[in-house]
Amino acid sequence: MTCQESEQYIQEFVDDRLTGDALEAFLWHIGSCKSCYNEMETSYLLKEALARLEDGTSFDLHSELKEKISIMEQYIKWHNLAAVCRRLILTVAGLLVVVEMMYLYLYYF
Ligand SMILES: [Zn+2]
Repeated sequence: MTCQESEQYIQEFVDDRLTGDALEAFLWHIGSCKSCYNEMETSYLLKEALARLEDGTSFDLHSELKEKISIMEQYIKWHNLAAVCRRLILTVAGLLVVVEMMYLYLYYF
């Protein structure tokens, strides 16, 4: 993902609307690109600070952002694990069909 692409995803990420492959690519990019991370952080802090000025409670947005990124990374890990499991199940099912066909062929011919 380029910086230009990353910028397009910042608002979606801040609003919890980014998922799947785009989320994974975005997290990977901001993990290695300080400039995009800072831009995302600014958007996040601005949005959350404005929202919370109204209720007047104290908050630690930097920690909350780190927590949010950590949760999203966990989500991506499970998302990828589920994809691997799906592929594995399909492969096993395919092999079973092949074995079944070989068995039928040997039995009837
Ligand atoms: Zn970047």
